[in-house]
Amino acid sequence: MVRLLQGKTMHGWTDVSFTWLLESLIDAFPNINLPKSYYEAQKITKDLGFSYETLDACPKNCMLFNGNDLSLDECEICGESRYKKYNESSGIIQCTTTKIASKQVRYFPLKLRLKRLFMSSKNAHFMRWHTDERTDDGIMRNPTDTP
Ligand SMILES: [Zn+2]
Repeated sequence: MVRLLQGKTMHGWTDVSFTWLLESLIDAFPNINLPKSYYEAQKITKDLGFSYETLDACPKNCMLFNGNDLSLDECEICGESRYKKYNESSGIIQCTTTKIASKQVRYFPLKLRLKRLFMSSKNAHFMRWHTDERTDDGIMRNPTDTP
C-alpha cells in the first residue's frame, strides 16, 4: 500500500484514479487484501504515522494560522489576507461561501515518524547507530558528537 501511495505522489495520480486502480486490482485479484478507496488507504497510512497536518500560512510567509490564530482572516504581521481574492490576471475569484487559503504548508509530526522508525528493530538499530557505534574520541567533527 505504501508503494502504491508513493506511486500516486511521484506520478501525480488523482484521488479518483487511485481509487480506480485499487478497484481494478481487487477485480483482477479477488483474494488481494487492499483498501477499497483512496480514503481507506489514507486511513491505513495515518495509523502507520505517515500522516500530516495542513496549516494555512501567510502568503508572505510571516506566520502560520494555527492554535489561537485559527480564527484570523489576515496576517497579524503584514496584514495580508489569509484567503484568495479575485485577481484579473490569474482569474482567481474569492468565493463567498467557501474560503480558499492563499497558501498552505504541510506539517509532518516528528514524534509519529520516529515511533514508526523505532517499530522495526532493523531501523531502530540504524537510528541509534551514531550513539551506539561511533567512536567517542572526544574530538568534535560531526553534529552527533555533541551532547
Ligand atoms: Zn504576513
